[in-house]
Amino acid sequence: MNETWKFRSSRRRFLRSLALAATVAPLAAITVHSRPARADREPLDEADDAARAVAYVHDAAEADDPAYEEGQTCGNCALYSHRADGWGGCAAFPGRLVSEDGWCNIWVAAD
Ligand code: SF4
Repeated sequence: MNETWKFRSSRRRFLRSLALAATVAPLAAITVHSRPARADREPLDEADDAARAVAYVHDAAEADDPAYEEGQTCGNCALYSHRADGWGGCAAFPGRLVSEDGWCNIWVAAD
């Protein structure tokens, strides 16, 4: 093994570590910041006017709306966040939790 090869190999490892750190750091920050907020929030009540306005249900299998397509859930909606413990935030319902298995008719495909 010559010195040039060793230098390139170690440089590649260093750059890979930097890329991994750049990916993981924001996710860790989201997790750390989201825990207290989640603990303070209550689940969205299906009977709330706001929930009924968009046909929200805790279980997508119970969706009774022409916009529903099989496989759509809050868990794969672009507006959903905090995927731990089956409940998370939704940009459409600030301050409330929605079920990861839930659905509403403003569902947006996550990337
Ligand atoms: S907007 Fe998305 S995450 Fe929010 S309740 Fe509707 S389907 Fe669930």
